[in-house]
Amino acid sequence: MIFVNDRYCPQNHACPAVASCPQGAIVQESIMFAPRIDYDLCTDCRVCTKACRVFQYFPEEATVTTPSGAATVAS
Ligand code: SF4
Repeated sequence: MIFVNDRYCPQNHACPAVASCPQGAIVQESIMFAPRIDYDLCTDCRVCTKACRVFQYFPEEATVTTPSGAATVAS
């Protein structure tokens, strides 16, 4: 599962990874916010992980800590 770790995003520019996603699954509502993943479209291809370190792949359930708190992600 791909997770957006907004700890690494300065949230002040257009996300260059949006165009890298072959599924159109990366959404950025404003340049002042970190992008998010549309999990209905994401296929876990991991292309985005090469575009920006904000996108991180977790193969199994994991707990990550971001500025907004801890989140549990599951594949
Ligand atoms: S893993 Fe692939 S489909 Fe999912 S957001 Fe990243 S580039 Fe898009």
